[in-house]
Amino acid sequence: MSQTLRVAVAGAGVFGLTSALALARGGARVTLHDPGPADANASAVAAGMLAPFSEALTDPAAAPHLDLLVAAQARWPDFAATFGIGLDRSGAVLLGDAGRLAQLRAAGQALGLDTARLDLTGLPHLGGGYGPEVTGGLEVGGDWRVDAGALARLAEAARRLGVRRLSAPPDSADHDLSVVATGASLDYLALAPELARLTPIRGHILRYRGLAYEGPVLRGPGAYAVPSAEGLLIGATMEVGQGRAGVDPDIASDLAARAELVFPGLKGQAWTAASGVRAATPDGLPLVGSSERPGLILACGARRNGWLLAPLVGEVVAACAFGREPGPWADLMAPRRFRA
Ligand SMILES: Cc1cc2nc3c(=O)[nH]c(=O)nc-3n(C[C@H](O)[C@H](O)[C@H](O)COP(=O)(O)OP(=O)(O)OC[C@H]3O[C@@H](n4cnc5c(N)ncnc54)[C@H](O)[C@@H]3O)c2cc1C
Repeated sequence: MSQTLRVAVAGAGVFGLTSALALARGGARVTLHDPGPADANASAVAAGMLAPFSEALTDPAAAPHLDLLVAAQARWPDFAATFGIGLDRSGAVLLGDAGRLAQLRAAGQALGLDTARLDLTGLPHLGGGYGPEVTGGLEVGGDWRVDAGALARLAEAARRLGVRRLSAPPDSADHDLSVVATGASLDYLALAPELARLTPIRGHILRYRGLAYEGPVLRGPGAYAVPSAEGLLIGATMEVGQGRAGVDPDIASDLAARAELVFPGLKGQAWTAASGVRAATPDGLPLVGSSERPGLILACGARRNGWLLAPLVGEVVAACAFGREPGPWADLMAPRRFRA
């Protein structure tokens, strides 16, 4: 008679939850433990973009991994339907002056991406129009985003599948395997030396509850605008090396001022700020798969694309736990890739 696999998952962000869901659906008995409040991690403050194409165009760390990001996005329609998460497929428009747009277009051509040029009059209507740095846009089809309640729905789905949630780790005698999905935390460094490869990157994000906008994500120079049921989101800073959570009022104000240059309609509007700490590896891909420490599986270090990657990460974690072939993308994310 086969025994039920018992797995303890540390961390209830999007990586921990998708790992717990994939494990529980595969028949494991899963305990998820996290000492933090459910809405205080990077997953809770993220803008929810599933954006392989505009990420590859605007983030040099993402461009080499476009195929992997596209494969991760392809998991989302089924995943979202299974867990009742709304997907918005309105795409994105990259904003800028003629020089920036020409550069982005050339980058798109190098990656084999089709982008359509928009002049100022063709840009989506956002109250207050656009600042002087914006003379047009580049329409990027194929980017999506998840709706605002996605993290809560994953947590609820885990509960319904019988995943037990604790604030402290279960006794080690109570599980056969552990999954470390603790984001930028280095609490498990002594157990998993691979975590030493993580660099924290704090990100501030602003919410303008009084501003409604529906349409594609708008990515300007230095700030993006993302529609959300709970008000317009303006993001985000990339504070490399900063691992301390919490809002720095000066940084939040700088982001607001920067965003007003791109979206003048934000001037005078009230905002609130939040921050989250992302974790990044040297190649921009997460550490996902078996650790060199037996009995330990890692799922950490998603940089800017944790939401996008999450269903694929859950799939790889479950394959490693059940001893199955983890699929064609696993080697790119395997923790062993950094071994000297
Ligand atoms: C401002 C901002 C905007 C973003 N926008 C996007 C976006 O649009 N699209 C996208 O794909 N990604 C986005 N990201 C990135 C994304 O949020 C992260 O990559 C992703 O959320 C990381 O998920 P995670 O589960 O690894 O970490 P986290 O969400 O940080 O979760 C880690 C959890 O581990 C817990 N933990 C810590 N230590 C322990 C311990 N010792 N034991 C147990 N639990 C522990 C923490 O309490 C936390 O709940 C954004 C990030 C930020 C900051």
